[in-house]
Amino acid sequence: MSKVLIAGGGLAGLAAAAALGRDGWEVDLHETRPFLGGRATSYAVPAGGDEVAETIDNCQHILLRCCVNLLDFYRRLGVRESIRFYREFYFIEPGGRISVLKRGRFPAPFHFTGSFLAMKCFSRHDKVGIARALIALRRERTRRKDLDRISMLDWLLQKRQTPHAIDRFWRQVLVSAVNEDLDRMAAVHGFQVFWLGFLRSSDAYEMGIPSVPLGQLYAADAWKNMPNVRMHLRSTVERIDACGFMADGKVLTADQYICALPFEKLEALGLPAPKLQHSPITGVHLWFDREVTTLPHATLLDRTMQWMFNKDGGRYLQLVVSASRDLTPLSRKEIIDLAVGDLRLFFPRVREANLVKAHVVKEQRATFSGAPETEDLRPGTACTIPNLHMAGDWTRNGWPATMEGAVRSGYLAAEGVAKASGKSPVYLIG
Ligand SMILES: Cc1cc2nc3c(=O)[nH]c(=O)nc-3n(C[C@H](O)[C@H](O)[C@H](O)COP(=O)(O)OP(=O)(O)OC[C@H]3O[C@@H](n4cnc5c(N)ncnc54)[C@H](O)[C@@H]3O)c2cc1C
Repeated sequence: MSKVLIAGGGLAGLAAAAALGRDGWEVDLHETRPFLGGRATSYAVPAGGDEVAETIDNCQHILLRCCVNLLDFYRRLGVRESIRFYREFYFIEPGGRISVLKRGRFPAPFHFTGSFLAMKCFSRHDKVGIARALIALRRERTRRKDLDRISMLDWLLQKRQTPHAIDRFWRQVLVSAVNEDLDRMAAVHGFQVFWLGFLRSSDAYEMGIPSVPLGQLYAADAWKNMPNVRMHLRSTVERIDACGFMADGKVLTADQYICALPFEKLEALGLPAPKLQHSPITGVHLWFDREVTTLPHATLLDRTMQWMFNKDGGRYLQLVVSASRDLTPLSRKEIIDLAVGDLRLFFPRVREANLVKAHVVKEQRATFSGAPETEDLRPGTACTIPNLHMAGDWTRNGWPATMEGAVRSGYLAAEGVAKASGKSPVYLIG
């Protein structure tokens, strides 16, 4: 059977390995780190004293039901059931008032009407404006040709959105989905999130959260059923050229090759690198001595911390700040103090609780920045080197930098590999 070499064990490389492996290809995947998953992974945090080391995700990762390729990848690994879906979004104001967004009885795109009208965090004026903008978004999605050139904020201002609607609705949903602020985000990405996640079908918005640490998803037994797929951990690819891969000082050859590395690594390997910028994400892990909330998750309005995820009976919370440039200069202690201060405003029980442990993960290179005029900078899977196919969330796969985008790119690269060998399987969904 034909052989393929893959550089990079993030979701893009793993998705390509799962697709080609199932179709009988001999696959050798080289990952520099001692574990799989790349930017969507988990690891043990050393504990102090007698405590047991804790396995944590580098940052909470969520998906929506519209991430059909990611769900297909989890299905291939046999871990689809480890994703728990939630149908309610909780918007909390400082002071603790909660508004819930959930689908009702009407069909899409009107399925949120009942809960949206009842949301107390928006005024009537905000709601009328948001509804008008959503109707315009549906209409302009296919008609406007400048959506990659203008920012989402430009578009929202054109639609005369209130400052409240921008801050509490559009920013709250989109900054975490696209990992960029509204004034730096190409409108095309904002449109896609709302179209696919909120308007096209009534269950697409449901939020999936892995019920196990991320790393456990890829350590799945499924690989055992594919003995033709071999994972080489702690194996660094040092060069990629027409002769093959140079890894760990050896030249490795195959029929086809996939490069699924982060874009900033390409130049050092002798490959052309796109001129994309990064956008950071900061995750804050807080362990309290008692339960401080019973909500499974919530979006926190008007403060620095954007999302809260309840990881263990309301005692262990994970907070996420996307596009977190403002946190870059702060020390870990300053970020923890800021996070606890924010939480006290939303969850009064935090005032009585003691913080037992805290951990901050600043990912400065979390994703590429989906700024205006970057779509043309994202290359496709084809490359100047024959039989080399590019993958990664940064390639042009129709999605912003997300797990779904990474899997889509892996499937596209796998299709390229198969096509170059005269076959035409379809791995990509949608
Ligand atoms: C903090 C954070 C939070 C996020 N939250 C979400 C979220 O909630 N939802 C969502 O959909 N997305 C989220 N993302 C984005 C998502 O994690 C990424 O889009 C996706 O994981 C990228 O996968 P990838 O395979 O393209 O790249 P990567 O995951 O970067 O994979 C590349 C792999 O290549 C390896 N590598 C690098 N150099 C070499 C070398 N020389 N040789 C061999 N291997 C090498 C790396 O170790 C890595 O494993 C988040 C990202 C971060 C950082």
